[in-house]
Amino acid sequence: MNDPLRTDVAIVGAGPAGLSAALWCDELGLDALVLEAGREPGGQLLWTYNSIENYLGFEAADGREARDRFVDQIRRRGLNIRPESVAASVALRPLRVGLSKGETIEPRAVIIATGVRRNEPDLENLEHFRGRGILESGKRDKDLAIGKTVMVVGGGDAAFENALILAGTADKVFLVHRRETFRARQEFTDAVRDNSKIEIITNSEVARLEGDGGLESVTLTGDGQERGLSVGALIFRIGVRPNSELVQHLVATDSRGYIRIDSSCRTDQEGIYAVGDVANPVSPTISSASGMGATAAKAVFSWL
Ligand SMILES: Cc1cc2nc3c(=O)[nH]c(=O)nc-3n(C[C@H](O)[C@H](O)[C@H](O)COP(=O)(O)OP(=O)(O)OC[C@H]3O[C@@H](n4cnc5c(N)ncnc54)[C@H](O)[C@@H]3O)c2cc1C
Repeated sequence: MNDPLRTDVAIVGAGPAGLSAALWCDELGLDALVLEAGREPGGQLLWTYNSIENYLGFEAADGREARDRFVDQIRRRGLNIRPESVAASVALRPLRVGLSKGETIEPRAVIIATGVRRNEPDLENLEHFRGRGILESGKRDKDLAIGKTVMVVGGGDAAFENALILAGTADKVFLVHRRETFRARQEFTDAVRDNSKIEIITNSEVARLEGDGGLESVTLTGDGQERGLSVGALIFRIGVRPNSELVQHLVATDSRGYIRIDSSCRTDQEGIYAVGDVANPVSPTISSASGMGATAAKAVFSWL
């Protein structure tokens, strides 16, 4: 085995939280290595097609533009971001991060900034219809809905917002939710109810996707009955889950898997910190993520 790579801080994830932690490590004179599983840094900003208007300091046309500004600032400092570096394990005594490619890092502290991923139902042929009817983003893919009947699945803000966007181009939109009541804000629920193109279907879940090649129909189940609907495009907005599997065996998490931290972003395991959405179900925002990155770096600095 090669000698482990040593650094003060290993930051896992290069979304806003990890990038902010890297900036603040540099500010405080700590060596930091940012590990990013994806091909490029940015995290969820890379799949944000709406404009960013609520981050103090600047507005951006979309997430990618905000990401570019963050990354430019980080790169001007010569900071070390390693794309396509998946952290596969974290161990204690000594603190170690193992990469999926076999390399080992021995940092003095680890900051987990792995964010969240979208939930998707466990459907047999979901992968087959990805790009063949399953939409990634209502905003980005609205033209793919032209002339089609679209289904949006979910009951929160994201589902309602996507239903409204897609109703702008689709012939018809089914908004399907597994419960009777919705979590979405009233401004969204009112707008959806006022939109004659949108039909709400409650107490139902997607059971099957069908089609030769592209998506053609969806079978719903609910109240013990099945119902088939002709649908040409579908988008799931059924919440997110934290990417905390990496440290779930080491640190305390809540019942949904969010990492538990104190006000200094410390987990219950010395040397392991967590920042951003993976530890923040209350305020999953760019502002909170970047604030937590700074907090963790300061806490690591004080501890070391
Ligand atoms: C459609 C959409 C619109 C949004 N709009 C806004 C908005 O207008 N305003 C706002 O404030 N917020 C918005 N958000 C939320 C905001 O993007 C998130 O709160 C923010 O990106 C969280 O940052 P993060 O760094 O904690 O996590 P993420 O951005 O999720 O980044 C985590 C990173 O960790 C990497 N990673 C995960 N596991 C590993 C591993 N094992 N090894 C290495 N790397 C790993 C991932 O690849 C990812 O790059 C939006 C989100 C979405 C999806």
